[in-house]
Amino acid sequence: MCIFCDIIDHKIPSKTVYEDENVLAILDISQVTYGHTLVMPKKHFANIIEADEETAALCMKTAKRLAGKIMKNTGAAGINILTNCNEAAGQTVPHLHFHIIPRYDENDSLILRFDPSPEQDLDEVLKKITAE
Ligand code: 5GP
Ligand code: ZN
Repeated sequence: MCIFCDIIDHKIPSKTVYEDENVLAILDISQVTYGHTLVMPKKHFANIIEADEETAALCMKTAKRLAGKIMKNTGAAGINILTNCNEAAGQTVPHLHFHIIPRYDENDSLILRFDPSPEQDLDEVLKKITAE
């Protein structure tokens, strides 16, 4: 039971932005900003970590291409491309997808804040995240 698999199988209607044998792009039902689009693989993977590299790359290739087209056609001033992985990162639908979110100005309806955490020992961080 996966809502995006049902959309891919045409069991649930959606607005198709782009489709090929591997990838589907649809309008997000919530439209965080005008033109908000979701790019997803037709094969089910829960998230980007679970997906194989080829599938993730195909989605990103499509997202890159659509981002340019959407920016041009909407006149957006910028664009965010992002994928949420797991609930902790805000993922609500457990089928890999990339959001393409056109940005009209810094005060539109998407809020992305990068607050620095308390000072970190970068050598320690580097050692930790690159450990085998
Ligand atoms: P997530 O929170 O997992 O990163 O993103 C899921 C997105 O899917 C949300 O932005 C939500 O609005 C969108 N969404 C959820 N259900 C549907 C649906 O039935 N149709 C479409 N087009 N979008 C959906
Ligand atoms: Zn699915």
